[in-house]
Amino acid sequence: MTETTLTDGASIPVGPRTLAVMPAEQQAELDPYMGQIITNRKSGLSLNHIIGCPLDCGYCVRHFWGDFDNKTPQLLVTTEEAVEMLAGHEAFAPHTTPIQLFNKATDPMLPGVKPHTFAVLEELDRQGLRNLVLIITRFHVTRADMERFEALANVRVTLLFTYSGITDSRVEPIAKSQATVKSIETAAAHRRRTKVILYWRPITPGWNDDPDTMRNVLDLADRTRVDALVFTGYYHKQENATYLRDLGVQVPYATDYQRRKVLPEELDAKVVRAWRKHGTGVSLFRKTSCGVTYAHQVPDYNGHWGVPELCDICPAAQRRICADDHRAPSQDEFRAALDCFGYDTDAPFLVEGGHVLTHALGEQRRYALQHRLRFQVWEVDHPHLHRAHGRTLAGYTLSQDEQRQLDQARERLAAAARHEDD
Ligand code: SF4
Repeated sequence: MTETTLTDGASIPVGPRTLAVMPAEQQAELDPYMGQIITNRKSGLSLNHIIGCPLDCGYCVRHFWGDFDNKTPQLLVTTEEAVEMLAGHEAFAPHTTPIQLFNKATDPMLPGVKPHTFAVLEELDRQGLRNLVLIITRFHVTRADMERFEALANVRVTLLFTYSGITDSRVEPIAKSQATVKSIETAAAHRRRTKVILYWRPITPGWNDDPDTMRNVLDLADRTRVDALVFTGYYHKQENATYLRDLGVQVPYATDYQRRKVLPEELDAKVVRAWRKHGTGVSLFRKTSCGVTYAHQVPDYNGHWGVPELCDICPAAQRRICADDHRAPSQDEFRAALDCFGYDTDAPFLVEGGHVLTHALGEQRRYALQHRLRFQVWEVDHPHLHRAHGRTLAGYTLSQDEQRQLDQARERLAAAARHEDD
């Protein structure tokens, strides 16, 4: 196991330089989601054939699938097999489907993982594929790494650096090393076609929402002139909350655990106020795909233009790009999209202003459809309310009007389903 040195002289393990394939019996014990090599996530079709991470971020999503104690990155299949699986996946469309690498259960720039990250990118590039590829990291990115990213001619890469100014090493052991700050500086200084985003997350009350910390993050974005800033909250689930509380960390939310990220309305407003007050020319986004597509000057592939309250902080030129592209699918087009993925074409749906309302399609299918149509696809039981932006509803107060709208949406979809049955 190699180590990286922190500024206070301590060091943290960063995993082996060469990765082994996980034994079959160990793979058989994995949570089914951890064992799934390709998944449809909101920000892209996600390839994760390496799992295991030594970085110990307290809020990590691996807590949810019982994988947090797996500190050593291991391969589930070879990288050659993984690329074949990706390119042959039902949801993969050459040049258009957004892709994410190693965003579930490891860091793509760890010493042992990095060769595989480049191997995937270089193979996709060799095939002439122009898909957007998102790489989320908080680890070292060197000048030599940037040269390798810059040598790619086809795939459109975005590096998203998770950085939020957290200094409590119980929450994020790597924070003290300043590794992420240095990586942002290096990546921003040596990028040409690669895009660089400061991924300001998880913004959490009491951890990193004080004025000085927020200003430091904004200063970093401003000084390095990254392509965009994207902010979001913390996934508040029992598993990571318990882990953090056991370490003595104050978790600011109560025990109403949530499926989606928490970013209360007042915290959203606070971030936007801090950004406006700072005056940085770096654009700020609420959604990952918005920051990525803005950086590449293409319309948002999640069709967030259909949720207009998200767009009030977006530059006018980008709003025009999204507005010009945004188009509701017809009934036939939506059914054709269901059909092309092999999904149930009898599933109830309702094309409404800015979104298609569905029921029981499943999150992964909705994301695949959303990316194909560049139009929001919602689940009626996971309501999106005005101002909550698809986040959890904790921290938002539902007006009577909003409650009524929710009830009406359910009724409309039920009526549509009855109509289909007749
Ligand atoms: S216009 Fe709206 S949907 Fe498009 S990138 Fe900006 S915030 Fe996102």
